[in-house]
Amino acid sequence: ILNKDYFIAVIEDLIEMAEEKKEYFIQLDSAIGDGDHGMNLSIGFREVSKNLEEWKSEDINTIFKNAGTALLDKVGGAAGPLYGGFFMKFGLPVKGKDEVTFDEFIEMMESGVAIIEKRGKAVVGDATMVDTLRPAVDAMKKAYHDDGCSPKEAMKIAMEVGAQGSDSTVPLVAKKGRAMRLGERAIGHRDPGSASSAAMLEIFYKHMP
Ligand code: ADP
Ligand code: MG
Ligand code: MG
Repeated sequence: ILNKDYFIAVIEDLIEMAEEKKEYFIQLDSAIGDGDHGMNLSIGFREVSKNLEEWKSEDINTIFKNAGTALLDKVGGAAGPLYGGFFMKFGLPVKGKDEVTFDEFIEMMESGVAIIEKRGKAVVGDATMVDTLRPAVDAMKKAYHDDGCSPKEAMKIAMEVGAQGSDSTVPLVAKKGRAMRLGERAIGHRDPGSASSAAMLEIFYKHMP
């Protein structure tokens, strides 16, 4: 069972991570984009941070819906609407609940990743955050449903597969987002969104009971 404390700990850590890794994401995005990915996440999660205390009494879905709305409102560019959409949809499968089963957690992840795929129309291999998130969620489902892994083990596999997914963007030509314009010059660079998604999965793992 994952209770509200788990999700709040995750959000608090996401806020910290956005600051800690800001320069790293800026560096990655400077190489193949417009250099603002670190700034975008920092602005978005600072807005979440401002209001989180107030949201803590709400149910899990409302907390994430509020966080998603903050990202959508405050962050321009591609990542704002994509991550904003992720968090807005993340809690929908568990509307009104204060604790969720791991089966429900998998549904939450699926629902979040699905909206990113739908909005961005990217598939695995396009060198985006989808290269991290889609294989991670699929691996988590398989680990838990088919291979008898515990929630913590399944989330660990998701994190590892997500990290490999981000690594897999390095030799690719980008097929979506700004880096597309670079063509072959994007080869040899990690996609920034794939890196921030991998960092998010680490946090979902770290706090998993
Ligand atoms: P922008 O590119 O508008 O400056 P960011 O720099 O914040 O926005 O985010 C860029 C990241 O967004 C990319 O590294 C990529 O992972 C992701 N991204 C861009 N376009 C798409 C898309 N169509 N589908 C999925 N992810 C995308
Ligand atoms: Mg950018
Ligand atoms: Mg931008």
